[in-house]
Amino acid sequence: MHFHILTLFPEMVLQGLHTSILGRAAEKGCISIEAVNIRDYTLDKHGKVDDYTYGGGAGMLMQAQPVYDACMALQSRIAARRQTESAARVIYVTPQGRTFHQGMAREMAREEDLIFLCGHYEGIDERVLEEVVTDYVSIGDYVLTGGELPAMVMIDAIARLVPGVLHNSESALTETFHDGLLEYPQYSRPEIWHGRRVPEILLSGDHAKVDEWRYAQSLERTKRLRPDLYEAYMAAREVPGKDHK
Ligand code: SAM
Repeated sequence: MHFHILTLFPEMVLQGLHTSILGRAAEKGCISIEAVNIRDYTLDKHGKVDDYTYGGGAGMLMQAQPVYDACMALQSRIAARRQTESAARVIYVTPQGRTFHQGMAREMAREEDLIFLCGHYEGIDERVLEEVVTDYVSIGDYVLTGGELPAMVMIDAIARLVPGVLHNSESALTETFHDGLLEYPQYSRPEIWHGRRVPEILLSGDHAKVDEWRYAQSLERTKRLRPDLYEAYMAAREVPGKDHK
């Protein structure tokens, strides 16, 4: 799967995303991560990419031309590789978008290419958004200085669902949110730490009993920590076939 990030700060996203698990996945070729510097596409002779907003107001706005040209050049390269006319999805990360969740990560992990458009300053001229963006996605109800961190958050969540990225393909299947529940508590060596014992059942070697215990723990923990998820999970069990987020 190919991730493309349109940004004014390519070094920020590349450094963050080429580390640890995603870095190894990129080396193996399971994913690729490319950052395109929007500034490279400005026609302004001083390299300017932002200007004041019409109607007044504080702050600068990223201008339409460099964003549009960077996005179109990228779409052409993707189309040439894929040998298709169909354009890749362009996700504008914005506090005004739909809030990102695991279900969206799962759905997006099925794409061959995803383009992330990162705003900065006051955001981006509305006209270019209307022409190039397919999805408006927020990572939460707060405002950050730029779209780079949101794009990195989303890419991390999506990439780890791409086959081959995680060593143990099981781990994504038992994790929090996969089936609508929080994950059960986990323990590693030693058996006793600070006087606290690992639950006896986990040392029993009885896999069926361990699974039962873990499921009960997941239910209890979800009910206690995320009653909203618990209610949705229970409601979905009463209506077979109803999907969890
Ligand atoms: N003026 C914009 C508004 O009020 O909606 C906020 C602009 S914000 C300071 C600059 C950029 O950061 C945005 O264009 C967006 O790309 C990114 N950003 C900020 N908060 C975000 C969030 N919660 N989720 C996704 N992107 C965000």
